Amino acid sequence: ARLSADAAPLTPGALADGTPIALLANLGKPADAAEAVARGAEGVGLFRTEFLFLSSAQAPTIAQQRESYRELLSAFPGKKVVVRMLDAGADKPLAFLNDAHEENPALGLRGLRALRASEDILREQLTALAEADAQTEADLWVMAPMVATVEETVYFTGLAREYGLRTAGVMVEIPASALLADRVLAHADFASIGTNDLTQYTLAADRMLGSVAGFQDPWHPAVLRLVREVGDAGARLGKPVGICGEAAADPLLAVVLVGLGATSLSMAPSALADVRQTLSAHTLDDARRLAEVALAADGAASARTAAASLAAELP
Ligand code: PEP
Ligand code: MG
Repeated sequence: ARLSADAAPLTPGALADGTPIALLANLGKPADAAEAVARGAEGVGLFRTEFLFLSSAQAPTIAQQRESYRELLSAFPGKKVVVRMLDAGADKPLAFLNDAHEENPALGLRGLRALRASEDILREQLTALAEADAQTEADLWVMAPMVATVEETVYFTGLAREYGLRTAGVMVEIPASALLADRVLAHADFASIGTNDLTQYTLAADRMLGSVAGFQDPWHPAVLRLVREVGDAGARLGKPVGICGEAAADPLLAVVLVGLGATSLSMAPSALADVRQTLSAHTLDDARRLAEVALAADGAASARTAAASLAAELP
């Protein structure tokens, strides 16, 4: 992408008091890496690997995967790159992995559950990632999608370590894993909160269904309270807590998420500039005050309004 010459300087993400908040990119294919770098991404907070699988009738080979991962990792020498294991099912169905006849695919055999049922696919993905990691200089982190339990966390992080992958974590996008975040994080190196699915499951509103789209709002205080659970657990255990759902791309909500304990934010590269600027205008104390008023609201709309009016009053 061509960026305007008068774009703001691409400083690392930080609050007004200097607290660093890494600003990372959500990417769906390696070819998008260059634009993310141009827009100042400090790494990748969510690399969705589904693209490798969606176009084919069967899983790609280890060699095909390794080449894609190598292309991605090569774009970020010395930088963190969080790769998510294949997240198939519900809004991302795969013929060879998912059962098309499930009545409630969002509540079905999806994400890590589907990978566990076809463990060879997960093992091949980890093999390809370990090979690409050995050939590149990025700081590779791997994470599992749709983790609901401590047992799944132990399973995934143990498997990743078998392949020599040093930093293994989980996505927190199911309320159960947010509520038990302290126990989940005891076994994971980091958590990354997927606010899209976390909102869907907290409000029981299918994120694909237009008739209930009004419920899909991550400003909802119930969602924010779950984020706080994870942020508090991360702070107690000294483990990073990232946000990789769309919520991180809303500049004011991004500040609120930091106030709830997020230590990094990952978003579409086009959102980085606005979020960077808004973060730089607030201290950690401001972020915590904004989080408090949002948490105290009755609903999503009033949380947004309350945070916006406090932000307008802050010096
Ligand atoms: C999420 O659920 O918030 C997320 C980042 O993952 P995806 O949108 O790919 O489900
Ligand atoms: Mg998700």
